[in-house]
Amino acid sequence: MDCHPREPVLETVCLTAGYDDLPAVRELSLDVYAGEIVALFGPNGAGKTTTLLACVGLLPCMSGEVRWQGQAVSEPIHVLARAGLAYVPEGRSVTTGLSVRDNLRLGRGGVERAIEIFAELGPLLDRRAGLLSGGEQQMLALGRALASRPKALLVDDLSLGLAPLVVGRLLRALRSAAERDGLAVLLVEQHARQALSVADRWYLLKDGAL
Ligand code: ATP
Repeated sequence: MDCHPREPVLETVCLTAGYDDLPAVRELSLDVYAGEIVALFGPNGAGKTTTLLACVGLLPCMSGEVRWQGQAVSEPIHVLARAGLAYVPEGRSVTTGLSVRDNLRLGRGGVERAIEIFAELGPLLDRRAGLLSGGEQQMLALGRALASRPKALLVDDLSLGLAPLVVGRLLRALRSAAERDGLAVLLVEQHARQALSVADRWYLLKDGAL
């Protein structure tokens, strides 16, 4: 018998969080295990971004808790990042005034490792990130996050405004990181069909609740 059953890398337990004392998600319990991709679906305003913000410590829990590797966490995002929690927010989190190379240097994983994940970034290293296409910018954001070899990665609206071909490329990179490195992924995605092609499980959020 297994006396130490596998525990989730990231878990919310009866999490309530929101803005100005107004809950946007209520009593939310979800979990993500190592090596799996979990999709979080829901209509606009359902509370998907709020859930991710609470998970990475950018929004406080009003009640309930977020657990990181079994322990309740209240640390700020930079501390969680050092512990292996990576977050790619909505809207391409690249520094547009810096080159691709410098954007990658700002990450914890460095330039070489990001190029191993997305070879497409190689010829673009000296280009200013603001000049990249939307798909290339998202590749940069994701490559920088994956290069840091996180234990868990939270991605908000990965495919916003991107062509299906690019989205497929990004999702495959997540899939192989989950399989190769045991990465736990919580993925907010509008395009359910594409997300389901790589996800192991999914949750549907509606009006702030599952
Ligand atoms: P979308 O798919 O449109 O990004 P979402 O599912 O991510 O939506 P959230 O952004 O989490 O939804 O929003 C949940 C609720 O919280 C909405 O009613 C929204 O209006 C509200 N909300 C979001 N951000 C704030 C904020 N900074 N201040 C006050 N209310 C907010």
